[in-house]
Formats: sequence, C-alpha cells, structure tokens
Amino acid sequence: MSQPKPRTTTRDIRQANRLQILHQLLLRKSSTRQELTRLTGLSTATVAHLVGAMLAEGLVVETGVEIPQIGRPTTILALNAAGGACVGVDVAETYIHYELYDLMLTNLARYDLALPSSKIEPEEVVQLIVTGFDTLLAQAAMAREKVVGIGISIPGPFEHATGVSVFAPTWGWANVPLKAMLEERLEIPLYLDNPLKFNAIAEAWFGGGRGIDTMAAVVLGTGVGAGLVIDGKLYHGSSNTAGEWGHTIIVAGGRTCRCGNQGCLEAYVGAPGILQTLLEIDRSSPLHFPGDQTRSIEAIATAAAQGDAMALEVVNRTAVYLSAGLGSLINFLNPEVVIIGSWVGALLVPIMWEKLLSLVERQSLERPYMAARIMVSDMARNSVSLGAATSVLEEYLAKEGRRSKRRLTEKGAER
Ligand SMILES: [Zn+2]
Repeated sequence: MSQPKPRTTTRDIRQANRLQILHQLLLRKSSTRQELTRLTGLSTATVAHLVGAMLAEGLVVETGVEIPQIGRPTTILALNAAGGACVGVDVAETYIHYELYDLMLTNLARYDLALPSSKIEPEEVVQLIVTGFDTLLAQAAMAREKVVGIGISIPGPFEHATGVSVFAPTWGWANVPLKAMLEERLEIPLYLDNPLKFNAIAEAWFGGGRGIDTMAAVVLGTGVGAGLVIDGKLYHGSSNTAGEWGHTIIVAGGRTCRCGNQGCLEAYVGAPGILQTLLEIDRSSPLHFPGDQTRSIEAIATAAAQGDAMALEVVNRTAVYLSAGLGSLINFLNPEVVIIGSWVGALLVPIMWEKLLSLVERQSLERPYMAARIMVSDMARNSVSLGAATSVLEEYLAKEGRRSKRRLTEKGAER
C-alpha cells in the first residue's frame, strides 16, 4: 500500500499565499496591496502581513505612491529586480543559447554559441556551459554571487530524482549524470529539464497559455514533442517523460525514427523528417542544403510562400502528418489551448494554416475539437531559455519563502 500523503499545514498555505503574491508582482511588474488583495482573493490582513514580511526581507520594494481622485494614496509595490539574477541556458542539438535576467525576468544579456553538427561528449557540453556562463556574466558586468540559480535545458528525457540525462539520441548519450557534473563545476543552484517542459512554462507564464488550465505547448523543431499543463500545473508524469508526443506512431511500419521505433510523428514532421519528404519527391531538389537543416527548411518556406509547386507539396504532406498527431493530442488531452512553437512551427505552420485546421477538424472528435483553440506561438523571445530562468526564479522564491519564515520565526515575528 502507498504511504499516506503528508498533511497540508498552515505553513504550506502561507507559502502558497506568498507565491501567489510574488507571481502577481512578477506578471504585472508593479501593483498595490489593494490590487493584490483583489487578484489573489486573499484577505486584506493576510496581504498586508505577507507584503510587510517581503519588504523587510528586501524581496519586494516600494517604488512610488498612487494618488487616486477619491480616497487615500496607495503605495506601489514591485519585486526587487536588482536583488539578484537568474540564468536560462538552452542546450540544443545545433546551438547553445544563454540568457541573463533580473528578478523581474527582464533580459539583461544574451549569448549564442553554434555547436558542431558532429557528436559531442558530455564533458565538452559541461565545459561550454561553464565558459558560456562566464561570458554572459562578463557581458552584463554581473557579479557571480548575485546569480540565484541556472536553469539548463538539454535535449531528451531528464530524470529529476537522479539528475541523469537519460537519453540524447543525436549525441548517442545514455544515462549521463549531467547534474552532478555541472554542480561540481558551477556551485550555483541548478535546475535541469528538457525543452518541452521549459517551453511550456514560458507559454504558461508569458505566452498563449496565461491563465489556461489545460494546455499542450507543442514543440516543432528538429525534435518534436509537447509540454502539458493540466489543472494549471506542468505535468511531469511518473518519470518526467510526459509529453513525448513526437513518438506517437502515425504510420504503422513507417519511417525509422531516431528513437528506434517505426512510424513516429517526429520522423515525418521534425526538420529531418520534412527534408526526407522533400527528397522523396525530388532527390536532387535545389531546396535541400545537405548538412544544413535550418537553411533547407527556410528555403522550403520561402519557395512555398512564392507558390513553388514542389515546396507546396512538401508543406501539404507535412500538414497531413501533423494533423494526425494534433487530432490525437486533442482527443486524448481535451485541451483549452494548443500552442505550436519552435522554429519549424514558426516557419511552416502559417503557410499550411487553413489546410491544417480543416484536417485537424476531420481527424478529431467534434467536442474536444470545438473546445480547443489552436494557435501559433507569439513568443518573440527564446521561450526555452526564458522558461528555464522562470523555473529558477520559482524555486528561488519558494526557497526564500521557507528561509525567511525561519528568520521571522527566530525573531518571533511570525504569526
Ligand atoms: Zn520515435
């Protein structure tokens, strides 16, 4: 039999209330006690007490006074942006993208590094993360001590319990203890996960998933997958591999996927799969640039937009495969919103939009289709790095809450 679940204590409730206030301050950039009371649904006394504690800790600052036409002036509150910094690193198959943010998630610096298309060893990736992090801090003249944590996205499944990168197919990695290797070098709190999860966090906080309870944030890039938000929370699954939607089999006995199975969605709508479709139509297509996925997909998008028949055929076939995957996803999850993101999605989905929607409608059940809003991501920033930095900030705010409660208890100030 399973262990009884731990009870929710008044401490947990206070912690959750505190995070609610911090979230609102982060999303709105500034607010007042009155507004926070309205937005969180907490009592005036609770908000006053919690804000008082956060002001004393330096986590929140007063930035001015609002003078209404009627009534008393109210103090404007904001997170103490300069109180620290957080970093998001997107380690992808062809590049590493580093971003530095303040505690209000305003971008302070970014840095890009291209990766060779050959296999890369875990030690090399660790070294690149460490040196890239130093370069990023130097760019913004940010002191290392101010960084409250680093969020790092790595391709493939990642196991939180062991800190192990389970499987990175492009590089042939299996069971790499990446977190321990990085901790040894960085000595800063680390938060690792894969791009599906971080992209979903960014969409849920800043993109089309704001305020949405059930969402699938689809990643359509070199790899394919989805980050799932269920009941307002990121869904991890029992071993953090929920959302491996790219390995849904859409063609029984079809193309070999890099996971080893046959007929996976990713083998048809990931960038290499789309290029395979192109080569199946014309083995010597001028739209294909061997060894350069990005340039080839861009060439298909440009040619299709100009009405090129071959490019349109590739886009149409891709729409057929993608709609099969989206139809299953909608039937299975019954989401309010499906957001299609990442670079292949941004380049090709707008071209196939009308056709894609009519195909999805035909290939999903009526009720879940009617309930789902399908959209292309409107996130201008690198959503994976932003999601990674957001996860760091969430961890930090939660931990600061626990730490400061101890401090307050020691002072006897906690109620
Ligand atoms: Zn697969």
